[in-house]
Amino acid sequence: SVADDQSVQNGQDLRSPICCIMGHVDAGKTKILDCIRGTNVQEGEAGGITQQIGATYLPAENIRERTKGLKADAKLNVPGLLVIDTPGHESFTKLRSRGSGLCDIAVLVVDIMHGLEPQTIESLNLLKMGNTDFVIALNKVDRLYGWKTFRNAPIGKAIRQQSKDVMSEFNRRLTEIITQFKEQGLNTELYYKNKEMGETYNIVPTSAISGEGIPDLLLLLVQWTQKTMITRLTYSEKVQCTVLDIKAIEGHGTTIDVVLVNGVLHEGDQIVVCGMQEPIVTSIRALLTPHPMRELRVKGTYLPHKEIKAAQCIKIAAQELEHAIAGASLYVVGPNDDIEAIKKSTVEYKNSVMSR
Ligand code: GDP
Repeated sequence: SVADDQSVQNGQDLRSPICCIMGHVDAGKTKILDCIRGTNVQEGEAGGITQQIGATYLPAENIRERTKGLKADAKLNVPGLLVIDTPGHESFTKLRSRGSGLCDIAVLVVDIMHGLEPQTIESLNLLKMGNTDFVIALNKVDRLYGWKTFRNAPIGKAIRQQSKDVMSEFNRRLTEIITQFKEQGLNTELYYKNKEMGETYNIVPTSAISGEGIPDLLLLLVQWTQKTMITRLTYSEKVQCTVLDIKAIEGHGTTIDVVLVNGVLHEGDQIVVCGMQEPIVTSIRALLTPHPMRELRVKGTYLPHKEIKAAQCIKIAAQELEHAIAGASLYVVGPNDDIEAIKKSTVEYKNSVMSR
């Protein structure tokens, strides 16, 4: 693909950044996800997007296509963007509060009509604790009185075409919200006016209903992560993988849903995961993703893979997973690895969780 060629040219092999969406209830997290997934795109399938287990994968090609209107000449060095689509996911909240840094970047959604709310501040605290970078989606701009819709348009273009009243109402609310962030100790600014990126957090006005600003949000997420997180995003052989969920699935027994943050997993790999009583040593029977052909998709059918390369969200079928613990790392036992040492580190993890 074009993205692969580019990363080879740059002498880098980067993995996709992982992004999660946070914010107050009703701020529009779910709707923004819908918009990103293209579920509300009228012109049919949003090209190349694949549904994963609890996540959506957008290939760079899709992002390039959707951000053409920004004339950014988007040079995308990452293969795509992995968006976690379970905002209220309990293990995700727990993981975040442990600061495990599972997500490379977050989108903090703020309702422009409401400003900062209790869970916005809660989210901010989790982000600070986990040292997680983020951008702010200032959502529901279409609710400004008199807003004219420019479906899926870049936000600058949409704002320039609003009436004076809408613009001044927008500016008034924006200024107020920037002040509220300041009270939380954070400098924020509209992303296209931000001269101090890195110190001043970026605000992207969006409408998850009519799509204004969503191109800007996608482009910013990819360009910012690939610019500032090269080391973190460099593909490594070492597997970095976290268990999110444990689920019994018909035909597969107990399975675990995982985020493969880095490295590659193979069918047959011997793995160690944290267990309720003791570490679980087992081997991967199947690496599964949802079936890509939607019309043929029967609930519960999965596509098996021989190997899967990060970053992706997948389901693993194996024996003995009934007592696995969500939130812990999954380890792959290499030919030279000391299995007892690996088992010990899962126990240490469990003790650290239990003692909280
Ligand atoms: P969540 O709780 O943060 O996931 O919020 P939802 O995505 O469920 O949105 C809450 C409500 O706000 C729903 O009724 C959405 O239709 C509505 N909503 C979300 N985003 C927008 C937006 O950009 N504009 C407008 N007008 N309504 C929105």
